[in-house]
Parts: sequence; structure tokens; C-alpha cells
Amino acid sequence: MTEDFNSTPHKRLNILTGEWVLVSPHRTKRPWQGKKESAATKDKMKHDPTRYLCATNTRINGDINPDYKDTYVFQNDFGALLTNSVPFTYKEGLLKAESETGICKVICFSPVHSETLPDMEISAIEKVITVWQKEYQDLSTKSDINHVQIFENKGAIMGCSNPHPHGQIWAQKSIPNEVIKKTEKQKAYFELHTKSLLTDYIEQELKLQERVIFENETFVSLVPFWAVWPYEVMILPKKQKQHIGLLSDHEKRDYAEHIKIVTQKYDLLFDTSFPYSAGIHQSPTDKEYPEWHFHMSFYPPLLRSATVKKFMVGYEMFGMPQRDITAEMAAKKLRIL
Ligand SMILES: [Zn+2]
Repeated sequence: MTEDFNSTPHKRLNILTGEWVLVSPHRTKRPWQGKKESAATKDKMKHDPTRYLCATNTRINGDINPDYKDTYVFQNDFGALLTNSVPFTYKEGLLKAESETGICKVICFSPVHSETLPDMEISAIEKVITVWQKEYQDLSTKSDINHVQIFENKGAIMGCSNPHPHGQIWAQKSIPNEVIKKTEKQKAYFELHTKSLLTDYIEQELKLQERVIFENETFVSLVPFWAVWPYEVMILPKKQKQHIGLLSDHEKRDYAEHIKIVTQKYDLLFDTSFPYSAGIHQSPTDKEYPEWHFHMSFYPPLLRSATVKKFMVGYEMFGMPQRDITAEMAAKKLRIL
């Protein structure tokens, strides 16, 4: 590693999107006098009769949740996408719009109201992955679904409206912006090198051991070189897999172990139920994408304690993302927890 990384402002390239992030390590000693959030308090309840995701409760639309024992999936009662939108296209001079269709689903990870991913057994997390696989595959067979986005918003600070541990799936007709960028970069690399971009990236990271947090036989967790969020983490399979549907049982177990360990480290970092947005980027479903290498990214907002978060404002809105602590410093902190 070059010493410049620790002392000199520099920019780093995100090889998946082609975008840059500004890194300002000299600012890490700056005192903080800004806004403090209240620390997340954890629900201790096993079942909350007033919350609509708990088993046997009635949801707002009148449906009653079954007495589920591990995971439970249902169509979002207030989805951002609808399957039966009236199709239209609009073009008027420079103004352009198109109708969009899709399906939004909710996945309860566990019947236990207070059990977040780090609290769950690895075997229970495996069941969540099995649901993700099934949903990805089922939704991909639908002719009007070309992309399946699996994600979790955790914590009130992230705008999560319900404390019951759950994730979401938004499956839709068009391919979203982030996925288009990552497809282009991976395709260009694959055509030139006949292997995936992330295969070579992992090989380099494993050799350097500067940003790796945890490794087992088939998966790696690391802070990507181009991380934007202070404690951003990427979990990815060592061997190229275009999507989660291709994981063997053994790989699924290894993946579940990474989710458990990364989220446990997060909770330990600032001694709080650590908020984040996590999502899986994988191949779209309209055709084959030999270049894709699936990965799960965690974007947590906390910066230096349970109450101080990073803001993406000012220069970051108008210029590019910026961070103070380097990816290496963040990885070191997470690795030793
Ligand atoms: Zn609940």
C-alpha cells in the first residue's frame, strides 16, 4: 500500500460503475460538532401485537399473516410498483416518460420480532438465502420482469418503517441505473479477459490483505477499495456466479456465515443495532449475462459512533462522494472485532 493513502487527498475509481470517490484521510482528526442522532434501541419483544409483520397479526389491507415459523414472503400492500399499470409512452419535445410495471414483496426473516440478522443462527440465515434464490428464480420466469432487486433497509435512521426484521424485493420490467452501469463495466472486462472483473479483483485483494475482513472457503467479505460509506462492506463469492440461484448448498452456508459475521461486527463496532441498506447486485433476468459476478453490498450511514452519521450533502450532491477514513482504516477496525 502506498503511504500516500494515509496522508494525501486522492480519488479512487469504482471499477464496477466507473465513478470516482474523493478520499481525504488528513481530515480524520477533525473534531465533530455536528448533528447527533439518538442511538438505536433494540426491541426486546418476541411478538408485538400492534405491528403488522408479526405472525398471526392482521395487516392494514385486512390480510392475516400465517403463524409462520421461519421466513414469510408476501406482496407489499403498498408497493412502489404495480403489475397492472396501464402501459403508455410519452414524448413531447425534450420530455420523455414510460409506464413501469413490477412486483414489490416483503420477506420477514424470522417470526421473532426482535431477532435481526446478526442474532439469527447461520442455518436460519441460510433459509433467508433460500427464499431469495426462489424469489429470484420464480420472478425471472415472468415475461414482464427483467430485473430483481433484493435489499434490506435496517434501522429508523435509514427510513425503515417497521422494526420487525424484514427485507424487500422489487422486481420490474426495466433495468435500474446502478445495474446498467455495473453491467457495462463487467461486460467490457469480460470481453477483454474472458473472466469476470470481480474474479481478478478478489485475487488482488486476497494477495494484499489490506481490505479483507473475513474469508471462508468460497466467500470473501471486504471493504471495497472505492468504498463511499465509512464502513461499507461487500460480500462476494470467490468463484464467479452470475446470480444467487447458482449457489450450491455448501456455498450457501458459507454465504450465510458471512452475513452473520459482517452484521455481528457491525453491531459490535459502535455497540448498537447497526443500521444499513444492504442489497444484492446480480445479473438481470431478461437474457444471459456471462460477465456478471454477483455481490452483496452494505451501505451503513454511521461514521464515528452510534449517534454520528455521515451526510451525503453539499459537494457530494454536486460533485462526487467524499470520505475521510480510508477503506483500509475501516477494514482494520472491522477485522479485529
Ligand atoms: Zn414483529
